Amino acid sequence: MMFPAPAAWPLPFREACELVVEHLKREVPLASWSVTRYEGERQVHLYVQDDAYGQSDGDSYAWSDSFCQHMVAGVAPQIAPDAMAVPVYAAVGAGQAMRIGAYIGVPIRGANGELFGTLCGLDPERQPGSLHDHAPLLNLCATLLSQILHADHLRLEAIGREAELHWIAFHDPVTGLPNRAMFLDVLGRALAEVGRRHALSLMLIDLDDFTSVNDVFGHTTGDGLLAALSRRLRTGLTLADTLARLGGDQFALLTDAPDHVAKAETIRKAFDEPFLVAGIPVVLSASVGVTVVSRDAAAESVDALLARAGIALYRAKRTGKARSLHYEPAMTMRGTRDVLLREPLRAALESGAVEAYYQAITDLRTGRPVGFEALARWHHNGEPISPDVFIPIAARSGLLPALTERMFDLACAQTAAWSRELGHHDLRVGVNVPAECVGDPDLPDRVAEHLKRHALRPHQLTLEVTEEALLADLEAAAAVTHKLRELDVRIVLDDFGRGFSSLLHLQTLPLQSIKIDRGFILDVDTNPETRQFMRALRNLSRDLELVMVVEGVERQEQADTLRELGCTYVQGHLYGLPAPPGDIDVHGG
Ligand code: C2E
Ligand code: CA
Ligand code: CA
Repeated sequence: MMFPAPAAWPLPFREACELVVEHLKREVPLASWSVTRYEGERQVHLYVQDDAYGQSDGDSYAWSDSFCQHMVAGVAPQIAPDAMAVPVYAAVGAGQAMRIGAYIGVPIRGANGELFGTLCGLDPERQPGSLHDHAPLLNLCATLLSQILHADHLRLEAIGREAELHWIAFHDPVTGLPNRAMFLDVLGRALAEVGRRHALSLMLIDLDDFTSVNDVFGHTTGDGLLAALSRRLRTGLTLADTLARLGGDQFALLTDAPDHVAKAETIRKAFDEPFLVAGIPVVLSASVGVTVVSRDAAAESVDALLARAGIALYRAKRTGKARSLHYEPAMTMRGTRDVLLREPLRAALESGAVEAYYQAITDLRTGRPVGFEALARWHHNGEPISPDVFIPIAARSGLLPALTERMFDLACAQTAAWSRELGHHDLRVGVNVPAECVGDPDLPDRVAEHLKRHALRPHQLTLEVTEEALLADLEAAAAVTHKLRELDVRIVLDDFGRGFSSLLHLQTLPLQSIKIDRGFILDVDTNPETRQFMRALRNLSRDLELVMVVEGVERQEQADTLRELGCTYVQGHLYGLPAPPGDIDVHGG
């Protein structure tokens, strides 16, 4: 006898069948050996070694035709030298269809003793009297197969548990959706196949204000809501789409559907109807960032793709939520800049690294400076960062009040020093005051403090305020500006003519001066219409008793024309770039 070495056990059941049947074929002289399995009403050959009957693997017989059914019920091998002589089988008569002749069979039982099938041998011709001698071998083989079956069963169970653990590791228990780990895996594989498939689009879906839902209804309800939402999101998706919950209230959809606009629409629809929470209708909305990888795109990393969708999502949130935005390269600039510069800017403000440069406001009649505008300057890692970049970042990061305080402090200190140098208190300084501060009722007190600390006369300080800032909250701005006037500081309307302008709106505000935006005078020396317009503006400001300052004078011809028009105060590169205080000659001229 040559059984496989025990070390090879447990073999997968099929392999064991093959070995056992081949072994029996060599050891026991019958024409056909097979292992069969009972499947409901049928008996199926799992493995056949057949010289006489022409059976093959997978052939099946109905129970009623099966000789095994009539023979094998217990445990011991059943032996019939002539099957046709077995009374029950002969009575059924089905045996006539196939001459069985000699038969030996033994039941194979499963892990719990249930009947699994039969190990059996047949021979149409031979009826060896020695079949009984082989009964112990057959028994052994059947036991062996039972045990391997059992081991297989355990292994399958283990696979099942493993599959379950796998499922848990890669799915979100709340919604049943794939989780971040699985999504990243799917995304990575999809990216590797781009070019062979359609374009891909990635959408990051982030619920708006979901924390307030959790706060009001509790986390269990919040979870229920997320599950309900995921069911809605799933409808309308196909097998080509992967929807995942990345965590918290953020979902992601990867699709290679050619029409990703329609997909975005499907997502939007999920939010159309309110969700019922404890009988209360709750309306949810989401912001969506979308990025598309075209078929012919260069190889891209998962990180880069997620970052782009994230930037688009961030923009969607910033620009009012409940919307879907496609990524554009211009967004990267802003998004990345915000992220990279926010903390350094905060630190620079704290450490006093933000400086003030000064640009002269010149009297055209004398050519001398009557005052300066303080302009914020910031160097980061040795590089100058334009105020057009860092002022908006400060605004988005809530840093403008700190920046404004810093500028008041520097401008008051510097102007007080210059005044001592000049020996008079006529020199003025302008500080830009953004909307965030114009409506702040504490502003007048703080301004008074700065003036006092640096011994600057109030009339020397001018607050430069834009129309937009004043109109953001006209009532608050009116209250604050009137208080400032009581201090005797001056207020100038900055950037007049940029965007919408209506002095009528501002009649109620105590303005002393307007600054005409450089856009108004670009061609004042060559265009008669512009000249006419400037003349009208000059008349208007005279009538309203407002001092007019013209910004952005770069060429002598512009200055000459303005002088002819009766304008007095100018500011611009022609008279000096904004410069650090050390480079400035206050005596000027
Ligand atoms: P703004 O208040 O209108 O400041 C005038 C801007 O015009 C300055 O730009 C100045 O350098 C520039 N300028 C002056 N003369 C000329 C000229 O002849 N030609 C041209 N093309 N430009 C000229 P800057 O310093 O880059 O500041 C840009 C803007 O950033 C300012 O516009 C202001 O809105 C903001 N900003 C600057 N400093 C501060 C600050 O301390 N606080 C606040 N809230 N905003 C500031
Ligand atoms: Ca200004
Ligand atoms: Ca201006």
